[in-house]
Amino acid sequence: MLYPNLTINENGHLAIAGFDTVDLAKKYGTALYVIDEDRLRQNCRLYVNSMKKHFGEDSMPLYASKALCFTGIYRIVAECGMGTDIVSSGELYTAIKAGFPLEKAFFHGNNKTDADIEYAIENGLGYFIVDNEEELGAINEIAGAHGISQKILLRITPGIDPHTHKAVVTGSVDSKFGSAIETGRAYEMVEAALSKNHIILEGFHCHIGSQIFECEPFCDAADIMLKFIADVKSKYSYRANILNLGGGFGVRYTEADPHIDIDANIADVASHVKKRCAEFGVDMPKILMEPGRSIVADTGITLYTVGSVKEIADLKNYVSIDGGMPDNPRYALYGSAYTVMLANRANETADFKCSIAGRCCESGDLIQENVMLPRPVRGDILAVLVTGAYNYSMASNYNRIPRPAILLVGKNGERIAVKRETFEDLCLCDN
Ligand SMILES: *Cc1c(COP(=O)(O)O)cnc(C)c1O
Repeated sequence: MLYPNLTINENGHLAIAGFDTVDLAKKYGTALYVIDEDRLRQNCRLYVNSMKKHFGEDSMPLYASKALCFTGIYRIVAECGMGTDIVSSGELYTAIKAGFPLEKAFFHGNNKTDADIEYAIENGLGYFIVDNEEELGAINEIAGAHGISQKILLRITPGIDPHTHKAVVTGSVDSKFGSAIETGRAYEMVEAALSKNHIILEGFHCHIGSQIFECEPFCDAADIMLKFIADVKSKYSYRANILNLGGGFGVRYTEADPHIDIDANIADVASHVKKRCAEFGVDMPKILMEPGRSIVADTGITLYTVGSVKEIADLKNYVSIDGGMPDNPRYALYGSAYTVMLANRANETADFKCSIAGRCCESGDLIQENVMLPRPVRGDILAVLVTGAYNYSMASNYNRIPRPAILLVGKNGERIAVKRETFEDLCLCDN
């Protein structure tokens, strides 16, 4: 199996954290997201402990909550000692509802509206990560009107290509995010930030992309950022307190993906950062990281019930399920790879090649193509593994399909963290 929390029990059923998935499907219905809460907490603590160990006590991982966002998860990551990243007022609202300590919240995004800025400042947001000059002006003005000075980081594009899918590359000059060092824009942003009365520039942020398996791109980004920090120190006598290295560590979706040792990678990045700080003659800033996927992806699976099985002779076999792109758009969007199995027949020989289709009116509504399963029949339970990240958070109601429930399982038992949407919920906003 891909991860140690996924096992096959004595009934030949897939189990997650020891819970029989066929029982869960029966009890809670499908489609169903199931999250292993113990593994989630383990992943959080791994980052917290590893960063403290290698970067020092004042370093901190921020959970990039766009990966999986609901009130309960903010409570869990806060309990584990993480801060959080949010990218919209909706995510901020959810964090507030959860009672998340907002001094540890960082507001991202390339186009924060005045309403976003107002809302965040009124609620005592810790930091904005400022993308552009217009936004900087707006934050300065709104902070001034509220009689406060607002802490910020500047988002800098270091010009790194981390060799992943182009839709998830964000650190190159040609990006809608941040200000590039190469073009000189980053320096202009520092000057502008330092000149504003109601802005406290705490440091810098970069995020080079996602699903990265080596530490090399992070070390390269750290090099560029520390060189930049040394430059602004000599140019403006400005000392950066914080360097946020972003998120992006990869996770194992299929057997073809490598295992990643987060602690070893953080150790490597840390020793690199320390070396460069000494070389460039700058004090080591407080280091932040922003893992999203690597906190939640491998904690989750999705359970579906098989409907029709269509064999198109000499061409293709389609297995249709009671979900699809509304609960997991990632194959339709990026062609993302997933591991798929029959949860109720987990020990049977997988000798039937098929594509897993959702139930929307779109040919592109696929979860995965050309996977091997035991020949499914109507009523089988199909499990898609490693769906904890960017599934529920990207879910839609396309074709008026209600979003599935999120069930947390672990040593504290099982509990519904997000209720299944009802048909009534679908019409709540209709006038
Ligand atoms: C998406 C995002 C992250 C999280 O990336 P993962 O690949 O999920 O770890 C972190 N920081 C920023 C700015 C992001 O946009």
